[in-house]
Amino acid sequence: MKYLDEYRDAATARTLAGAIARATTRPWTIMEVCGGQTHAIVRFGIDTLLPPHITLLHGPGCPVCVTPLEVLDQAVAIASRPDVIFCSFGDMLRVPGSTSDLFQVKSNGGDVRIVYSPIDALQIARENPKKEVVFLAVGFETTAPANAMAVHRAKEEGIANFSVLVSHVLVPPAMEAILSSRKNRVQGFLAAGHVCTIMGYTEYEPLARKYHVPIVVTGFEPLDILQGVHMCVQQLEEGRAEVENQYVRSVRREGNVPARALLSEVFTVVPRKWRGIGEIPASGLGLAPPYVAFDAARRFEVDRHTAEENPECISGLILQGIRKPQECSAFGTKCTPLHPLGATMVSSEGACAAYYKYRRHELPTAAPSRAAEGTGA
Ligand code: SF4
Repeated sequence: MKYLDEYRDAATARTLAGAIARATTRPWTIMEVCGGQTHAIVRFGIDTLLPPHITLLHGPGCPVCVTPLEVLDQAVAIASRPDVIFCSFGDMLRVPGSTSDLFQVKSNGGDVRIVYSPIDALQIARENPKKEVVFLAVGFETTAPANAMAVHRAKEEGIANFSVLVSHVLVPPAMEAILSSRKNRVQGFLAAGHVCTIMGYTEYEPLARKYHVPIVVTGFEPLDILQGVHMCVQQLEEGRAEVENQYVRSVRREGNVPARALLSEVFTVVPRKWRGIGEIPASGLGLAPPYVAFDAARRFEVDRHTAEENPECISGLILQGIRKPQECSAFGTKCTPLHPLGATMVSSEGACAAYYKYRRHELPTAAPSRAAEGTGA
């Protein structure tokens, strides 16, 4: 298959769903790790094609969702300074901190700019030597190499007015946190294909062995996901617990070796707080000692800030596969994409936002009109 449409072919999807049904003899619970996979599952109704005893749980792999409140508050504090040009990917602007967001800072006159790459932010720093230029470096292993490259270049070129506010997170420690929880229900994983494109999948092999759980590296199109589920079910039925690669068109076992080498040079593994979940040991990337001069949190002295989540929000349980969005009492009522209370409603990849957009019939009857919210779908 060469083109996108071929990965969405309805007849092939039905054939794969039939193969899954024939392979399944008992109930299985499988978690898709990535928010992009969750979005595709809900958008295309992939879970509705599966036999009823296959349950898909939505995992923690939504980068916008898991960026902690503290980091948003730090971003707002830095972006509000008159000497700063604050650069970010567009999807972070509306993510609420504890009292404000970057969009509000921009409306109040702050110099907040949407960029498509950290390299663009570096160019802004070159062009504005009298300003401090800060890039909000969040996300999983997928976005980390470009951020590492920006910092590496800034050091090489001696661009002293550039810095990054870093909140990178790593997938395998989050999977281990889920597997080691007493509340864990996950029996098999669909690992995030784009993360493995960078990192490969050797890190998942010890997890599969230790917890006896199949892990299938899976892409994001409907046929990818159905094939990933099929491979996972086959392993479960046969009692195997191996790492397999469905996403062979993009992922190699060793990943992208030069990108991994750059990550190892610029970043070091640190404990990281995940929004809605809490701190997970060794689950993040921070700047390595030779690059700490580019750490915006230290430069602007905002690194000791703490903030509390909205107590009504159960997004932490949703991100761990323990609850589903419609089980939250605020879903579609107090909490909507325009007025999100918590992590999984803030991004289009978040499970709550995906359910809100594509599963109107599952909203509580008292929910306000989504047309009024302007979310379309
Ligand atoms: S619907 Fe809103 S409040 Fe409820 S879990 Fe999702 S993000 Fe949190």
